[in-house]
Amino acid sequence: MADLLRSGNTMLNMACPVCNNPIFRNKGGNIFCPTCNRNIKIVNDISYKEKPLEKKEINQEEQEKSAHIRKKELFFSIQEVLFEKIEIITKKLRDETQLQTIEKYTRILFNCLEILNKIPFRKED
Ligand SMILES: [Zn+2]
Repeated sequence: MADLLRSGNTMLNMACPVCNNPIFRNKGGNIFCPTCNRNIKIVNDISYKEKPLEKKEINQEEQEKSAHIRKKELFFSIQEVLFEKIEIITKKLRDETQLQTIEKYTRILFNCLEILNKIPFRKED
């Protein structure tokens, strides 16, 4: 063991998973067990912890993105439905002569246009 240290190897605070003896790192960065005489691969603690976090961040970003798209699509369908209603009411209004009914239709039209004005997205966006 002293020979190993003298020749520039570092003893690590870890044991070999096979023989349970201390393991060393050589100057080249390779980790090995002198007892088993083989290299040992160690999962880097930092990268092991950081990777899932990165993935989580990306997923969250994607979720927010798709939530934004869903919101846009919902507003587009509201627009479409309202435009259809406006068309129907406009046709009915054209031939309507009863003031009460005209008032009813114009109120609906007004509401439809009000909602359309409040939609934050336009189809061209
Ligand atoms: Zn070993």
